[in-house]
Amino acid sequence: MSDRLPGFSTLAVHAGAQPDPTTGARATPIYQTTSFVFNDADHAASLFGLQAFGNIYTRIGNPTNAVLEERVAALEGGTAALAVASGHAAQVVVLQQLLQPGDEFIAARKLYGGSINQFTHAFKSFGWNVVWADPDDIGSFERAVTPRTKAIFIESIANPAGSITDIEAISTVATKAGVPLIVDNTLASPYLIRPIDHGADIVVHSLTKFLGGHGNSIGGIIVDAGTFDWSTAGKYPMLSEPRPEYHGIRLQETFGNFAFAIACRVLGLRDLGPALSPFNAFLILTGIETLPLRMQKHCDNAKAVAEFLAGHPAVASVSYAGLPNDKYYQLARKYAPKGAGAVFTFSLKGGYDAGVGLVSKLQLFSHLANVGDTRSLVIHPASTTHSQLDDAAKIKSGAGPDVVRLSIGIEDKEDLIADLEQALGA
Ligand SMILES: *Cc1c(COP(=O)(O)O)cnc(C)c1O
Repeated sequence: MSDRLPGFSTLAVHAGAQPDPTTGARATPIYQTTSFVFNDADHAASLFGLQAFGNIYTRIGNPTNAVLEERVAALEGGTAALAVASGHAAQVVVLQQLLQPGDEFIAARKLYGGSINQFTHAFKSFGWNVVWADPDDIGSFERAVTPRTKAIFIESIANPAGSITDIEAISTVATKAGVPLIVDNTLASPYLIRPIDHGADIVVHSLTKFLGGHGNSIGGIIVDAGTFDWSTAGKYPMLSEPRPEYHGIRLQETFGNFAFAIACRVLGLRDLGPALSPFNAFLILTGIETLPLRMQKHCDNAKAVAEFLAGHPAVASVSYAGLPNDKYYQLARKYAPKGAGAVFTFSLKGGYDAGVGLVSKLQLFSHLANVGDTRSLVIHPASTTHSQLDDAAKIKSGAGPDVVRLSIGIEDKEDLIADLEQALGA
C-alpha cells in the first residue's frame, strides 16, 4: 500500500464503503430494515446509553446511510456527518442544536427561496429569529451581531444568481462573534468548494441537487467540521450541559470534535424524526460516484451557455460568476477555480412577460422548481420560488421580474444553446 492520501475522485467512489462482510456484495447494499437485533442485554443498554456505537433503529441510523455520511464527511473534509430526509430537515436539525427560543441567527439575504420562507415563517414559530445581512457587504454581518446571536448562515454559491460568497471574510466575523459559521454548499458541491477549508464550522447540503445529481431522491446532510468550541458556559446548552435524555452526559466533553454531529443525531434526528430512507441513500451514493465528472460537465456547459446569452440581443444582462466581466469573477477564481457552478440567472429586455414567455417556449429545458439535475432546468423566480417576497425583497435577493434562472445539465451544450436560441428568437 502506498501512503498517498486518496484524491477527491477516489474518495467519491470509495469513501466509507467496503465489500459487504456477509455476502461480498461490492455495491453498498440497501439495508431496508427498521431495526437491528442486539447481541445481548448489555449491548442493548450500552447502545441506548451512548457508550457504544451501533445500529438500533433506522430513524436514528442505518448502515446504508452510514456509508453516505462517511463519504460526504470525507469529501467535505469534516469529522463526521448526519444524513437526513431533506435539505430543509438538515437546516432545522442544525439550528435546533444551536438556538433556544428568543435567540437569533444571522443569514445572508441571497438564499434558496425555500430557506427564506423557512427562516422567516416556520422558524419564527419556534422563537428562532432570523436577522438578514447582505453577503456583498461584510460589515452588515458585523453590525447584525447581538448577545443573542448563535450562528451565521450563508450559501457558498448563492441562489438564485450563482453569486460567490466571501466565506473567509464572513468566517472572520463569526469567529469574532464566537458563533459557528454554517455554509449551505448545495450549489457548489465539495467538488467546486470545500467551505471547511475556508473556515466553515458546519456544512449543510440538499443532497437532492448535485450530490444525488439525477433528480430522483430528496435528501439532506449535515457535516461537522469539528472546529468549534461549544464550551462557553451556557451558550450552547445542547452541547455543553448535562443531557437529561442520556443520563446527564455532556456531548462536547464525551465526543470532542464530532460532538455536533452526535447532537444532531441523538437530540435532533432521534426526537424530530426526519430520517432518510436507505433506498434514497443508495441512489444518492450512486450519484456521488460520478460527482467529479458530472460537476465539471455542468460547469463547462454553463459557461458556454452564459457566453451565448451574454451576446444575445434580447438579453439585458447575465449573472454568471464564470464570465470575466462578472462582479463575482475574482471571488469565483479564488473559491471555485474549477468552475463557477451551473445555476445562474439572466435578465430579459422584455421584462416579466418576456421571462414568462421564454419559459413556455423552451423545449429541451424542463420548467420546474429544482436545480442540480442531469437535465437542464428553467424557472422564472419572480412568479414561482420567490413570489412570496415583495418587489423590493425580490430585487434584493436577485429575483427581479425580468430574471430567469437556469440550472444547466450535462446534455450537449450545442443542443442547449439551440433551444435557447429558438425560444429567444420566436
Ligand atoms: C433545494 C435547496 C435546499 C432545500 O433542500 P430540500 O432537499 O429541497 O429540502 C436548501 N438549500 C439550497 C441551496 C437548495 O438548493
